[in-house]
Amino acid sequence: MNETKKNECPECKSNNTAKHGFMVTRQGRKQRFQCKACGLTFTEKLGKTK
Ligand SMILES: [Zn+2]
Repeated sequence: MNETKKNECPECKSNNTAKHGFMVTRQGRKQRFQCKACGLTFTEKLGKTK
């Protein structure tokens, strides 16, 4: 198994995040996440979106 780092919230650093659909970018689809602790939605690598 390839253990990847858990997606942590860029805002509050919580690991309590859930998948929240996809964001389409020029590079392709990015997995989107929502932090259950502070409610922030963010994508991997791209950082936070408001
Ligand atoms: Zn958070």
